Formats: sequence, C-alpha cells, structure tokens
Amino acid sequence: KKITIAIDGFSSTGKSTLAKQVAKQLGYVYVDTGAMYRAVTLFAMQNNLIDEIDFNKEELIKRLSEIHLSFQFNPQLGFAEMYLNNVNVEKQIRTLEVSNFVSQIAEVSQVRAMLVKQQQQMGKDKGVVMDGRDIGTVVFPNAELKIFMNASPDVRAQRRYDELSEKGQLVSYDRVLENVMQRDYIDTHREDSPLVKADDAIEIDNSYLSREEQFKKVLELVNN
Ligand code: C5P
Repeated sequence: KKITIAIDGFSSTGKSTLAKQVAKQLGYVYVDTGAMYRAVTLFAMQNNLIDEIDFNKEELIKRLSEIHLSFQFNPQLGFAEMYLNNVNVEKQIRTLEVSNFVSQIAEVSQVRAMLVKQQQQMGKDKGVVMDGRDIGTVVFPNAELKIFMNASPDVRAQRRYDELSEKGQLVSYDRVLENVMQRDYIDTHREDSPLVKADDAIEIDNSYLSREEQFKKVLELVNN
C-alpha cells in the first residue's frame, strides 16, 4: 500500500538527495517544495520586485496569479525539473542570489497558502516523497512517515559550498555559512508555519552519517 513520506528539516541537510533516492527505490513521485519557493523568488527577481535588501510584498501578492509552476520529468536525469511559466528554471533557482532571498519570500502567508494548496494536490494520491520545511506539520499532517533531518551548521555550509563550487559558482565559505544560518533563523522564526519538528517525526542527524546509512534507515522505517 502506498504511503505519503514527509521529509522536513534545515537547509542543506541532504533532504533532497535522500528523498530522490527513496522515491526512486519505491517508484514514488518526488516533490521538491523548496524549488517552488525558489521559483516564486525568481519570478520576483525577474519582475524587479526585489532590490538589494527589500522586496515589494504588495505587488508580489497582487501578481501571484501570474505564476504557473510545474514539475516536468527529465528522463535523462531521472527526476523532475522546475518550470516557471513553462520555462525550465532548474539552474537559475539554485544560485546564491535566490538562496539569499527565498526565506523572506517564504514568509509571505499568501505565497505559502498558494504553494501548500498545490502541494496537497500533487500528493493527493499518495505514493509521494515530499521534502521541505512544513510538510509533516502543515501540508500532510497525516503523512504515514515523517522524517526530520538535521546536521551541524558547519557541516551543512561545507556541503552547500562544495555543491556551488562544483557548479562553478564563485562564493566564499563564509558567505555560504552566513546564508545557511540566516535561513535557519528566518525559517524557525516566521509567524506562518515556522520550521519545527512534528511531534511524530523521526529525527535523523546526519552530520556523521553516510548517504547509504541514511537511505537504509529510511527504507527500514518504510517497511515497518
Ligand atoms: O529546500 P530549499 O533549501 O531549496 O528551500 C529554500 C527555502 O524555501 C527554505 O530556506 C525556506 O525558507 C523555504 N521553504 C519553505 N517551506 C518549504 C520549503 C522551502 O519555507 N516547504
């Protein structure tokens, strides 16, 4: 019988890698909800709703209906990519610029309401692995399996730094660490759906766990 698997946790804890692996193994659909918040952020950037330090919240709220998000499966990669108004934005949403603003955009209640609704629709038939910050608490509070991932900030910053460097993005480790800590702060302190472990979620601290060990652990949980 197919179930719903919610994977929540802090930034750069390897949620998406794990979620993809689990989805592939089980033949489930994987949904990266962070990509959706990132795509809304990109929309705001493209439409000059964001400047150096602030953004035009009222205007963004007014224009939410112009944002059409979809995931399209890429058979070469083996997972779905994010499309914003029918344009593949997978690369553009992973930049540090988007990362620096996304948590502020994710504070807007109207943005959250719109995305949560779409996520609930995508997962309504079960057989889904969804990763994010509020999946086990808000999107699918009745998910059969909830995982909460954590790792120390420096381990997470190092991972994100390695990832960005691999993609050829020139950034300093300190700026990446700053971004990770800043997002943690905003995510845990926002009024609407703050990042918090669901009471019935199982916590995995993966500072010192290999990908293989985490994967095995989740599969064990699925089979029990
Ligand atoms: O998972 P990822 O790091 O790509 O998410 C980017 C940001 O989007 C997070 O830092 C968080 O601010 C926001 N987010 C959220 N709720 C989700 C997924 C992501 O608020 N379900």
